[in-house]
Amino acid sequence: MAELIPFDAREGHIWYNGEMVPWRDAKLHVLTHGLHYGSCVFEGERAYGGEVFKLTEHSQRLIDSGRILGFEVPYSAAELDRATREVIARNGLSDCYVRPVAWRGSEQMGVSAQKSRINVAIAAWEWGSYYSDLRLTRAKYDRPAPNTAPVKSKAAGLYMICTICKHEAESRGFGDALMLDYRGYVAESTGANIFMVIDGAIHTPIPDCFLDGLTRQTVIGLARDAGYEVIERHIKPEELKNAQEIFVTGTAAEITPVRAIDDLSYQQGPTTTRLMDDFRNLTRRVAKAAE
Ligand code: PMP
Repeated sequence: MAELIPFDAREGHIWYNGEMVPWRDAKLHVLTHGLHYGSCVFEGERAYGGEVFKLTEHSQRLIDSGRILGFEVPYSAAELDRATREVIARNGLSDCYVRPVAWRGSEQMGVSAQKSRINVAIAAWEWGSYYSDLRLTRAKYDRPAPNTAPVKSKAAGLYMICTICKHEAESRGFGDALMLDYRGYVAESTGANIFMVIDGAIHTPIPDCFLDGLTRQTVIGLARDAGYEVIERHIKPEELKNAQEIFVTGTAAEITPVRAIDDLSYQQGPTTTRLMDDFRNLTRRVAKAAE
């Protein structure tokens, strides 16, 4: 089972600071600022038929995430796009997940790391569905306030609370955690945005303290094109019981119907099914255009 091979023991090539290196040689030292102090940002991308959906948007978001943490990724979005395509081709992949990451290196080991080199790597691997039969439970931690953390950066450090919440949810038999925000409004799962269908309209939280996902933006566009009313607003957890359908969106999750949130149950309804079909057709068109 491919899933059991640790990520540092696989075969293939990884793009590392401008060069293609054998997969197992893409290493870093234990004394690395990104590891100790969380000065690290990353992306998660999906390729369909060898072409990453929203590639340039992802490359730009990596650069923007770094800037929010106060560092400049030393490659342009066009260079990152090119490197990503090289990685996919070199590894002979077609439908796959892509993981670019940028971090402060080993030059300084203290809170201040002004002179550290910024390193960048891009890896890609085959990856199927992220969730199956998704059941959520209320998370132990809330998404932090925008004056507490760099919430618009896809920064590794922000995932510390996500892993804690997800592990805790899994230990109780759930697939993921539903995180509220610092005000107590519904925010997102640990790695995907959330939508609910209430009486025919689609409601989703305002992304003012978490990532405004590229999939989220795409799905809002698809829903409006299909004639649905999409309402972005603050949503209280008490409102979850009013929803007829709930789904989450993300690069990894794509569109995944939510079957339960604690003791509330949901069915995959017609709105979710329609959007899943539209999203599949859109990503297939991207794949076809790349052929
Ligand atoms: N929220 C979090 C916390 C995530 O990790 C992700 C995945 N990047 C998303 C939302 C969805 O973002 P996207 O659709 O751009 O993948």
